[in-house]
Amino acid sequence: MNMKEKIIAIAKENQADAVGFAPISRFDENDPVFKIMPETKTVICLVFRTLRGMYRGIEEGTTYYQYSTMAVENLEETVMPGAALRVANYIETEGYTALPQRRHQIIMAEKDSTNPEVLHDLIYRDRPEENQMNFIDSAVKCGVGEKSLHGVLLTDEFGPMVRYCFVLTDAEIEPDEVIKPHLCDGCGDCVKACPGHAISKDGYVDVWQCATYYKGASGIRNPFMNPDAFPDLDDRLAIIAGEADLSPERAKEILAKIAFYPPVGQSYCASMCGRLCDIDCYVHLEKKGVLKRSFATEFRKREKWSFDISDYDVIKK
Ligand code: SF4
Ligand code: SF4
Repeated sequence: MNMKEKIIAIAKENQADAVGFAPISRFDENDPVFKIMPETKTVICLVFRTLRGMYRGIEEGTTYYQYSTMAVENLEETVMPGAALRVANYIETEGYTALPQRRHQIIMAEKDSTNPEVLHDLIYRDRPEENQMNFIDSAVKCGVGEKSLHGVLLTDEFGPMVRYCFVLTDAEIEPDEVIKPHLCDGCGDCVKACPGHAISKDGYVDVWQCATYYKGASGIRNPFMNPDAFPDLDDRLAIIAGEADLSPERAKEILAKIAFYPPVGQSYCASMCGRLCDIDCYVHLEKKGVLKRSFATEFRKREKWSFDISDYDVIKK
């Protein structure tokens, strides 16, 4: 078994579903990789499926914590770092340097950005010195999938139902080909699916709009919202319908009023939007028959549920 085969074997023994290798020549000179570890010769991407079952509760509108705990927190904080560490240990045993790279969920390089998956008031912002890799572009360079219209990794086996991390090393390892994009057909289902209209037609995601609706501002898709939600806001119906265009300040104001579901460990919030952008993308790709991993039954079992905005029109001013 050569070094590449051994790395793939260790990653897969530790729950990775796919592994891709990119030579450093694919990264331009300003890429954060050069600041993080200038001697990097190979970037290795480890891809992990998020089980379809973990999405059942948020798809049905019944329970929301399994997705946040098992598909986000557990993978990001336990499974993925464990696998990356074991791969890195092997590489260092072979006499090369290896640096695992996982997303730091509460550090943002931009002044006023956020991460919808974690509590916004715990985030450290304007920290460009804390270089983090460009995750999606690096994954594409490693040949593990393509970038979707809405900016997530799409893989042949699992579509958007994946998460991923990296190991940087100064070992030169045979690269994999970059995949020619073939899954995203621009159908726009991800854009239409978002209950907070956080994704524009060209795929740009407004992170504050996303954060607000991820955490449950849409009454159309939130079974825990009371009919008289946001009683002090004049545009409460526009917010509940997902039709308000929220600045970061406005988003923070609304987020301060939202507590529909307790956060889980490590500050991760429950995905009250049901991660519909990814789920509807998955449903679309599954129906088209382009995903290599098939299941006994289709993911979506019935028409998508939603509440009516008139259910919330109970406050007369
Ligand atoms: S839903 Fe359609 S447009 Fe959006 S990422 Fe998936 S395939 Fe592309
Ligand atoms: S569906 Fe959820 S995760 Fe996707 S963009 Fe909208 S709020 Fe964000």
